[in-house]
Amino acid sequence: MPRPIIAITRPLPEPAHTLLKKVGNVRANTRDRVLPPNELRKFVAGATAILSVIPDQIDEEVLAAAGPNLEIVANYAVGYDNIDVAAATARNIHVTNTPGVLTEAVAEHTLSLLMATARRLVEGDTFMRKGHYKQWEPLGFVGPQLWGKKLAIIGLGRIGSWVAEMAKGGFGMQILYYDIQRNEEFEMRFQAIYHELPTLLKLADFVTIHVPLLPSTHHLIGAAELKLMKKSAILVNTSRGPVIDEQALVRALRTKQIFGAGLDVFEHEPKLTPGLAKLPNVILTPHTASATGEAREAMSRIAAENILAVLAGKPPLNPVNPKS
Ligand code: NAD
Repeated sequence: MPRPIIAITRPLPEPAHTLLKKVGNVRANTRDRVLPPNELRKFVAGATAILSVIPDQIDEEVLAAAGPNLEIVANYAVGYDNIDVAAATARNIHVTNTPGVLTEAVAEHTLSLLMATARRLVEGDTFMRKGHYKQWEPLGFVGPQLWGKKLAIIGLGRIGSWVAEMAKGGFGMQILYYDIQRNEEFEMRFQAIYHELPTLLKLADFVTIHVPLLPSTHHLIGAAELKLMKKSAILVNTSRGPVIDEQALVRALRTKQIFGAGLDVFEHEPKLTPGLAKLPNVILTPHTASATGEAREAMSRIAAENILAVLAGKPPLNPVNPKS
């Protein structure tokens, strides 16, 4: 029997490559760039497994281009909104993700954005580099303290809960949350309070978003929701860009309707909504919330292990579609 072809769409940290080449012929994109759709379709032709990354749009055309051997698309991410899961399921193809191993990394990045936005670290750094620092300023770069403030978590899953753990333990923050499911055990453990979204936004000093991108979460935060927030509030998003209406956010930041924002993900990623990058009260990071050596290596291992399981005729470890 011919060895299966395993298409890895982007250079990744080890151990995926080493693990996978033991069981199949690894076809790796060695150039560190996103394959445009026409190249991606050619690249996956004949593959039994695809190890994909977030910018790859794995749609019906890509699945069709892979052909009848395709058994699994293992996404190197927790989110899988870049994959047409329904189309994969209809073709009897497993879709898997890498949950759990990047929780701490993303939570740490979330806290970094909360702190950096509050304490205006990037503004201060730019000020220093431009040689503008001439004297200590009692009124300069003042921002809100985190200690004891109300942190609103939208989406209390793995990452949202870990953010709560760090924010409560490290900064004595009061935890409020909104999710489609209430978690009473969490409420007891963290003295956390559940609110519907409008009330949550009105009460919060800081808001952080940790929902998956779904039709129900697209533009969950738009002009109306931003209007509910305090003028002193800070919004952080490390989930997926389209959860926020970015045009509405640019307006809210420009008019100082809210104090600031920290964003790791963007509505039209990698493009930014015009005006966003000109605003001093927003900090932008290039979708690097999971970018710790530890998390990225573990993601590599888990993505590969899902493929190994399916190639061995076993169920995948981290299925996201009902087929699995
Ligand atoms: P999770 O599945 O553990 O948690 C998601 C939570 O959102 C769940 O509690 C769920 O009930 C809730 N939810 C779903 N729909 C909702 C809705 N309409 N309204 C309110 N709550 C809703 O996922 P996780 O591991 O915590 O990851 C969360 C998201 O973070 C991922 O889906 C991914 O898109 C994003 N993420 C981003 C990065 C990054 O690099 N920036 C890295 C990892 C994950």
